[in-house]
Amino acid sequence: MKWKNRSGSSNVRVSRGGKAGGLGIGGILIGLVLWLVFGMNPMSAFQTGQSVTGGGSGNASMTEVRSDDGRDAQFVSVVLKDTETIWNQIFQENGRTYQEPQLILFNGRVNSACGMASAATGPFYCPADQKVYLDTSFFADMRRELGVTGDQQGAGDAENRGKAGDFAQAYVIAHEVGHHVQYLLGISKQVRQAQKQARTEAQANEWSVRQELQADCFAGVWANRNQKLTNFLDPGDIEEAMHAASQIGDDRIAHNHGQVAMPDNFTHGTSQQRMRWFKKGLQTGDVNVCDTFSGAI
Ligand SMILES: [Zn+2]
Repeated sequence: MKWKNRSGSSNVRVSRGGKAGGLGIGGILIGLVLWLVFGMNPMSAFQTGQSVTGGGSGNASMTEVRSDDGRDAQFVSVVLKDTETIWNQIFQENGRTYQEPQLILFNGRVNSACGMASAATGPFYCPADQKVYLDTSFFADMRRELGVTGDQQGAGDAENRGKAGDFAQAYVIAHEVGHHVQYLLGISKQVRQAQKQARTEAQANEWSVRQELQADCFAGVWANRNQKLTNFLDPGDIEEAMHAASQIGDDRIAHNHGQVAMPDNFTHGTSQQRMRWFKKGLQTGDVNVCDTFSGAI
């Protein structure tokens, strides 16, 4: 996949850790002013302040990507930019305006509006703050896992193995952005309502699977249109992502939404279902083929 020396998004924020606590003098002053002027509880002002910055008390520093941030941050920024371009187009074509999400790249732990996330959480989208969360160790794990597989299949030299996984990683980002699109279109809300009315856990689960498969389909639509626009794919990239989808179908990615926003035994669907819907989007570039909510999946 070609991504080097291409322009990146300004919506990536890199969490630079920092000490817990520390509202900062600004937060305290705002709290005091609200308390004095309106008689508001200063603590409620603190909570508002935290949710507005999206950081929470655990993240002292959240900045844009810097030139010394390394490969993952640069890569994520280029992919996010590509998703912005394509989804802006698609929304425009349908008479809507796309609102670009922020992507938080973190290492270790991060506080989201959906709760505290760690590297074990895996990538996820948080509808409550409309941000995509990605921990850098996930990329390292993916590279390692795909690298090992490449070895077993005797695929290429070290240079190729280094590249292996680029598009698979982009696919993960595109999938999470797909959840943001679902949020903007009101689909996530409808799914949650349907789940509340579901009679059994299995029924509620099926709604989740359908939502996941649609995010895969949206990722395919993005890949199709981005390819037409930038010719970013290398031979073998699609197979690589398919392979990754089958590898990660039911383990790490599967659990991420579970821990943050969904029931525990939630799944993404089988790897075959995931591939089928990704391909549907990929072959057509048409969001209309991504109706995973009616009919068989
Ligand atoms: Zn998902």
